[in-house]
Amino acid sequence: MICVDLHVHTIYSGDSSITPKRLVDVLHAHSFLKTVAVTDHGTMEGYHHVSKLATVYEDVLIMPGIEALTTSGDIIIIGTEERPPYPISPENAIEFAEERNAIAIIPHPFRTLNGLGEYSRKLTPTAIEVYNPNATTEQNKMAFELAKELNLPQVAVSDAHTIDELGKGYTKVSADRNMDLILNAIRKGQTQPVQNPQT
Ligand SMILES: [Zn+2]
Repeated sequence: MICVDLHVHTIYSGDSSITPKRLVDVLHAHSFLKTVAVTDHGTMEGYHHVSKLATVYEDVLIMPGIEALTTSGDIIIIGTEERPPYPISPENAIEFAEERNAIAIIPHPFRTLNGLGEYSRKLTPTAIEVYNPNATTEQNKMAFELAKELNLPQVAVSDAHTIDELGKGYTKVSADRNMDLILNAIRKGQTQPVQNPQT
């Protein structure tokens, strides 16, 4: 079992204060959270900086990701260093991920800002964020109900834009510290979303 934060932003997102160096240092010092997907808005630049800095730390695993604003709302793609073309529909973003053996997660489906909302029901993502601290309790509850109804794997994330937010939500995944194993376990629904009351 491994604890993973599948939604973290760096300064390359434009709206986050987390520098690659600080992120890697905090993960290395953290007692259990050492694996994250860097999911900046529309860019892989932050991921490249973070993963380069992380190579010296054997305990830290950085996965490539992107939060892509599709024509209907946000989709998170994790597991490829390729950036999807824009503009892109949510259907094509999911297909883009599948073709690259990556996963597609619907983030904060019912958040007003860039949430896919009811449109999520027409889609076949890998998983759904059932806890995102940037959504309201009610919106997270609706996301949880949606994941149950669609029988989709559930993940919890921090969607951190400041370093203090890291780990506010994370997912326990039944896998060893290896990206492909983690992505496969998420596909199989071997996940346990955790809302961390400590942070
Ligand atoms: Zn985000």
